[in-house]
Amino acid sequence: MPQFCEVALPIPLGLTFTYRIAEGELPVIGGRVLVPFRQQRLLGIVTELHDREPRVQTRTILAVLDFLPLLDGHLMKLGKWIADYYLAPVGEVFRTMLPLGAEFKRAVIYRIAEAGHMALHAAGTLGSSARSRRIPEEYLSEIKVLDLLSSRGEMREASLRTLSGANKAVLAGMVRKKWIAREDVSAKRDAARTVRTAVLAGDVEDGKRLNDNQRTLIEMLASTGGKLALEKLRELHVPRSTLETVVRRGLVEVIEEPAGFHVSSTKPRSREFEFNAAQRSALQQIQQSITAREFGGVLLHGVTGSGKTAVYLSAMRGVLESGRSAILLVPEIGLTPAVAADLHEIFGGQVAILHSGMSNDERAEQWHRIRRGEARIVVGTRSAVFAPVSDLALIVVDEEHDSSYKQEEAPRYHARDVAVVRAKIAGAVVVLGSATPSLESYFNATKKKYALIELRDRVEQRSLPDVEIVDMRQEFQDTGSEQVISRKLSEEIKARLDRQEQAMILLNRRGYSPVVLCRACGKTLECQNCAIALTHHKSDRKMQCHYCGFLAPVPQKCIHCGSDYLYFLGTGSEKLEELLHGIFPAARIGRLDRDTVRGRQHFERVLGALHNGELDVLVGTQMIAKGHDIHGVTLVGVVGADMALGMPDFRAAERTFQLLTQVAGRAGRGPTPGKVVLQTYFQDHYAVQYAARHDFSGFYEKELRFRSWMHYPPYSSLANVVVRSDTLDDALRWSGLLGRWFEKTRHEGIRVLGPAPAPILRLKKDYRYHFVLKSQSRGKLNALLRSMLAFAGQEKIPRTQVIVDIDALWLM
Ligand SMILES: [Zn+2]
Ligand SMILES: [Zn+2]
Repeated sequence: MPQFCEVALPIPLGLTFTYRIAEGELPVIGGRVLVPFRQQRLLGIVTELHDREPRVQTRTILAVLDFLPLLDGHLMKLGKWIADYYLAPVGEVFRTMLPLGAEFKRAVIYRIAEAGHMALHAAGTLGSSARSRRIPEEYLSEIKVLDLLSSRGEMREASLRTLSGANKAVLAGMVRKKWIAREDVSAKRDAARTVRTAVLAGDVEDGKRLNDNQRTLIEMLASTGGKLALEKLRELHVPRSTLETVVRRGLVEVIEEPAGFHVSSTKPRSREFEFNAAQRSALQQIQQSITAREFGGVLLHGVTGSGKTAVYLSAMRGVLESGRSAILLVPEIGLTPAVAADLHEIFGGQVAILHSGMSNDERAEQWHRIRRGEARIVVGTRSAVFAPVSDLALIVVDEEHDSSYKQEEAPRYHARDVAVVRAKIAGAVVVLGSATPSLESYFNATKKKYALIELRDRVEQRSLPDVEIVDMRQEFQDTGSEQVISRKLSEEIKARLDRQEQAMILLNRRGYSPVVLCRACGKTLECQNCAIALTHHKSDRKMQCHYCGFLAPVPQKCIHCGSDYLYFLGTGSEKLEELLHGIFPAARIGRLDRDTVRGRQHFERVLGALHNGELDVLVGTQMIAKGHDIHGVTLVGVVGADMALGMPDFRAAERTFQLLTQVAGRAGRGPTPGKVVLQTYFQDHYAVQYAARHDFSGFYEKELRFRSWMHYPPYSSLANVVVRSDTLDDALRWSGLLGRWFEKTRHEGIRVLGPAPAPILRLKKDYRYHFVLKSQSRGKLNALLRSMLAFAGQEKIPRTQVIVDIDALWLM
């Protein structure tokens, strides 16, 4: 019997901890144990069992939670790869891989209460006379606690105590005063949540004796297979008493059920896909690769509307029929209820759907279903790449270029790249699909790392839309004023309205006006926490920071100089909608952006309205650019999508090209050919020109040359190192220390740029300086970063204040 085990704990340290195994306990590698750590008890994952007596005294495991591994050998290997490649703490990686948040870490959280807000407000209004008086230490730490909770929302006890310096007694006192609320989250989340469900019970043939409301309710139930959550029934707007009556008459029963994403256990219906020759050949190639039972990578590059999705789904159904498993990753916005319904139709009860709108309990429930083998098809956003399926045959990454696959918090992994590694470990096939593949993936395909399959034509011989570029500088000269909607676009919209066709208008910026400028002093209104201008949201009557969520009232006077001459500059999607209403008062106009989309349902409702012809024009941000297949849309107007071209980011051209191509792809997906009017201030830019010509390879060649000159990916490995602190002094001192260390250390073949102020110098209260590292050798780069982190540790720079972002997507 091994006497010791190594445990990975969910803390930001890149190492495992040794614990003694108690007599008679049998921990397993990949299973969870409860261990003492400092003053807390933590759950961790066992990574190794051994008999090496450690030199320091070890503590003993408190409890073994799993007798079978939660993470099998493949997933353990994948987790270690992520920790190694992304320089991420291994315990945090495992925590991310297991959506068992509630089960994983016992936590006490605090929230500010009403009385606390008032106390904080009172403290803020103390005059300078009060401030000069001696203030008790305890009061100061109380105010610090309130300030933290008021700006950050709920916080865990450990971080609250570290940041505020308040001890347990201070917190307990504040709870007694009702300034703050304490909650044991683990206890609450462990209790299974239940939903009340109505079930059709009695004889409904007795229909004559039902009134209209009762009949509506019964019919609704019958149409959903005889079972529906009460919440859903409420959406019918029948009076409450109706349900009570039918329950009394024994027609319906109300039962309690564990909450979850309920999937009917119906058999998959045999939906026939109708394929053209190109799709058939793509499917065949993928299937051959799967049958070989060894790793294979495929890049499926198909123009918008070429029927990539049908190819994936068909390949996945083949996998299911052969008794193996498949995972489909989709971008954040891709998983609408309509898509889910489609998936249920094709895969029946064998599909598990994981999305970011689910509660922790729902995620955990789906995770267990997958692990038990009840669902062998998994569809989900980023973290679904960790789904515990067995005998994995296929992973598909849809819209593989989408930036939502990159996690922008620790561990900072890219789900597409993790999918490729997982497929390698499992001997499975990975298919990356896109109309606008990332430079990296396309480059890999041309270097024969992946097989390249191209779908060059739209289905049913439909043509790609014509794109007309409108030069907005010229428009300004011709009309003598700044235009939001050009004459050409206006004319085309009018033509669509006359013909009862539909239009989508993209403006990739939400809110009403992005900048408030004072004409007297020339200053803008900035966020308190970030070096970012606040955006005016007219209907909500507020100013909002789009980076940290900070809110402020709409100013009447300049806060810097008191002048009344405030200008609200620029146009966001909210203002665009208003302008369109003004020009086309009779048109039915809808808007989709993060402000109007309060939930998944709303998103679906608006798209549904467009689909059913209840809307003439849909305005929106990039949300409208992705994946939707609405046949009545014959015009796409791009009012603003090239703002990124003015930013200091080497991926700006690629992102702009992708967005323009994707949004243009929404036009003309039905029988009537589509048209795109592209307004731009950068009409000569190659990203705009190639997008207008639907010329991916032209863009790709040009962009690749630029990347090669500048030593950017895919020609080098890149890492962004950000040093941050809420005091400018620390941020400067620490980045200076690291800068000198980089200079002193020999690192042949690695370019280190920096330290430089990050393009957004202050973000969420932190000052930020950064380094950009580039190298031909990934191994050398990671080795250097590892010793840099060790040096930072010696210099007592907190690990959480040095962010290492491998293959960073944003250098902002
Ligand atoms: Zn001013
Ligand atoms: Zn902010």
